[in-house]
Amino acid sequence: MYASVVIEYPIKTLDKTFTYKIPEELNDKIKVGMKVSVPFNNHFVVGFVLNIVDDYEGNYELKEIKEILNPELVLSPELLSIADYLVKEVLCTKIVAIETMLPATLKTKAKKDDYALYETYVYLNKDIFIDEEKFKNKKKQLAIINILKNKEMVLKKEFAGSSLKALLSADIVREKKIQKYRLQERHKQEEIKTLTKDQDEAYQKIKSYFGQAKTILLWGVTGSGKTEVYINLIREVLKLGKTALVMVPEISLTTQIALRFYEVFGQDVAILHSSLSAGEKYDEYLKILRGEVLVVVGTRSAVFAPLQNLGIIIIDEEDSSSYKQENYPKYHARDVAIYRSIYNQIPLVLGSATPSLETKARADKKVYEEVVLTKRINGAQLPKIYIVDMAEEMRQKNMIFSSLLKQKIKEKLAKKEQIILLLNRRGYSTFITCSNCGYTYKCPSCDISLTYHKSTNNLICHYCGFQIPKNALCPKCGVDGLNYYGLGTEKLEAELKKLFPMARVIRMDQDVTSRKGRHEEIIKAFKKEEYDILLGTQMVSKGLDFPRVSLVGVINADTTLNIPDYKSNENTFALLHQVAGRAGRSTILGEVVIQTFNPDNYVIKWVAASNYQKFYLQEMTFRHKLKYPPYYYLVSIKVISKDYQIALNEAIKVKKYLIKNLLAKTIVLGPTTAAILKFKDEYRMQIIIKYQFDEKLKKVLKALDELYSTNKNCYIDIDFNPNRI
Ligand code: ADP
Ligand code: ZN
Repeated sequence: MYASVVIEYPIKTLDKTFTYKIPEELNDKIKVGMKVSVPFNNHFVVGFVLNIVDDYEGNYELKEIKEILNPELVLSPELLSIADYLVKEVLCTKIVAIETMLPATLKTKAKKDDYALYETYVYLNKDIFIDEEKFKNKKKQLAIINILKNKEMVLKKEFAGSSLKALLSADIVREKKIQKYRLQERHKQEEIKTLTKDQDEAYQKIKSYFGQAKTILLWGVTGSGKTEVYINLIREVLKLGKTALVMVPEISLTTQIALRFYEVFGQDVAILHSSLSAGEKYDEYLKILRGEVLVVVGTRSAVFAPLQNLGIIIIDEEDSSSYKQENYPKYHARDVAIYRSIYNQIPLVLGSATPSLETKARADKKVYEEVVLTKRINGAQLPKIYIVDMAEEMRQKNMIFSSLLKQKIKEKLAKKEQIILLLNRRGYSTFITCSNCGYTYKCPSCDISLTYHKSTNNLICHYCGFQIPKNALCPKCGVDGLNYYGLGTEKLEAELKKLFPMARVIRMDQDVTSRKGRHEEIIKAFKKEEYDILLGTQMVSKGLDFPRVSLVGVINADTTLNIPDYKSNENTFALLHQVAGRAGRSTILGEVVIQTFNPDNYVIKWVAASNYQKFYLQEMTFRHKLKYPPYYYLVSIKVISKDYQIALNEAIKVKKYLIKNLLAKTIVLGPTTAAILKFKDEYRMQIIIKYQFDEKLKKVLKALDELYSTNKNCYIDIDFNPNRI
């Protein structure tokens, strides 16, 4: 028998399969989808078996497969077909597509074959008769025997060394290793809630699509109880003997949801997200492969979870940009989910209070089914929203807090209600400039000023991570003239403590949550009302459900609005509407204060009116006029080089090539400098393609990609439906 194997090198010239002979002893063990070691150019490399055939017609003397690595890892026909799909849709090589679907510990570069954690247990050898007389002078050994007599087995480390050793060497006691999953088991704690009438209607409607490949938008206002609808659907799916996949945005935004799934499904849940350790991810992946769990909750790459017999896929907060991978291969988890929904003939539920414009437009055109939840649970009202003009406040010297926000904070603190404050910028101050010589700290590799972090006294590039300590005096002129500008969460926290010294304040952003488990701690502590004010970046905007929060304050609504990108309106609306939705979710009425320099902007206006529909319609007009999604598809092509001139010259060539080869009605714009021209010491030129239908597009771009794959001075980066341009 023979196997075709794709090997570990991700380069385009090796993007094909190689045929190997299967040695006799592996004949009945080897399967399509297995990870193997094969000889290649006088050494051994790792690859995946893509096909097995009985005969080989060729003249070459074939080499043999050396061994199977991880016998448990067998990529299913479904996963292999997803790999084909990725190759075609995002233009990556086959091996890259396969590796993207696997946790690091199972990729070809993994350092060992088995990352499992084992614990050693000892047990009594039942075949040996124990004559207690003989142990008269060996009290310690006898004690061990007596303990083991009543137990199936005991952890080895619970006994002292020498006595146990003697028993082991006499074969009276034996030992065995058992795999231990790293994540602590969580048991079911709660029953499923009975759905309200509205929820039940939504649930029934979605349920009617079981067994069909249908994408359904579940558009539910904040606090309408979407999670319980998901949970009821999943329970039904499990009853049918099937499994469920639930996608959540960055885990920071959804810790509470993940906890809720543990509460109702306990050990049937595996969780996959980026803040797990490599070992934990390995364990969770194995649980799924072994069929030991029925529900997977995870972030972007969990869309490749090897669940067998899928019955439903749910994507919560479907508009989150985190579902798009920003690195090669630039896939979108929503598209992969649609593929899996068709492959398995199962429904895909896209849930959000602020659906992406693409999704809403498809629902309007009846491509997707649409199910709506218009009311909050328990008759809770949507919050009352105040817009504050910060230009006016500045004149009155209210630099950070408007007088209204100050007053509301005071009120809520007095009533022992809770407050959430959003500032979408981490760090202390966003840049430092010398008042004497004008020097500004900038990243040496990127075209960006450095953000000051006071707690560590470091200046950090938020793009590439470069950091240096801050000098006491200006590093250029030596004068004591360094001034701090711009407001970050760290400084906001300090100011808040000055203004309200009695308030208990907790901050949540990337800096304080880098420690594992810190998110969960903060959320639990805030829920238990150990704090009055939770302040943070967008991490506080979604998925949080605290009944005592009656005030949400947005310190600066303009941080996202001012980003020069066609999606900044959509992103700003979603962010503000979602964070406003954290207020008044229970019996207390919620209030929201939004501070902005653009009080007349229509995004702000529709946020104030809590009206997604109106925002959507107005934004669609704008998108239509400027030929943006969802009316046109976008492709961003970056031409990247260490040399500015080369990047520019090649970009001009690329544009000519595209215009010559694409359909005439397809629009090719640029080249312009990318939003961040210089990143990690490379210059980036950008070309934008806008198209509605162009059957030549994929072929032309693939050829372009291949053309540049051997260029030593520059490379290109192709991004379909980019998150930003
Ligand atoms: P959404 O995700 O739509 O913003 P959540 O799923 O967070 O809303 O639900 C809001 C709140 O309502 C949560 O505290 C949840 O426990 C509660 N809830 C949801 N459904 C029910 C129900 N059927 N009965 C009682 N409480 C519910
Ligand atoms: Zn940098």
